[in-house]
Amino acid sequence: MTEPKRDARIHYAETKIRNVPDFPKKGILFKDITPMLADPRALHVVLDELSERFIGERVDVVVGVEARGFIFGGALAARLNAGFVPARKPGKLPAESDRVSFSTEYSTTELEMHKDAIAAGARVVVVDDVLATGGTAKAAAALVAGQGGVVTAFAFVIELGFLDGRKNLEAGARVETVIAY
Ligand code: AMP
Repeated sequence: MTEPKRDARIHYAETKIRNVPDFPKKGILFKDITPMLADPRALHVVLDELSERFIGERVDVVVGVEARGFIFGGALAARLNAGFVPARKPGKLPAESDRVSFSTEYSTTELEMHKDAIAAGARVVVVDDVLATGGTAKAAAALVAGQGGVVTAFAFVIELGFLDGRKNLEAGARVETVIAY
């Protein structure tokens, strides 16, 4: 079989995203990635696409944001031979942690990271499934910076371009996304 062109591959992955209106709140169109995760080809395409963006670069740590950022972040870390660090919702991490507060497209919450998670000077990529307003990723980056790490890039499977979250992040690091709306 001839390899499909890059755009066709990404389009295939895109067809595996389910739009769920009014979840978790009225007015939000939720991008459900579970059909994409369940489809071996779509998952492969998305992970290939994300990891290709970092070929030849030094990435020490991938930080994944709970919970969907763990799935892509863990897989990306394994492909880049980097470590993985979870940024978690409050009260989940067992050891001493740093904490930041922030707002997302539909909630205000907090994120925590173990105090000893990031070595000073470590080159870090922050990963999540969706870039909406950018509040979540910015909070994760603040935790990394607080420990002396350097966020070189943010990586997302989906970007909701109309919310302009990229503007919130681009000042400090580049932003990589696979599927933009
Ligand atoms: P934000 O902080 O506004 O960029 O929101 C990003 C976080 O909220 C990510 O962890 C996403 O998983 C989640 N999120 C925000 N908006 C959506 C959406 N429309 N569909 C799915 N997840 C979303």
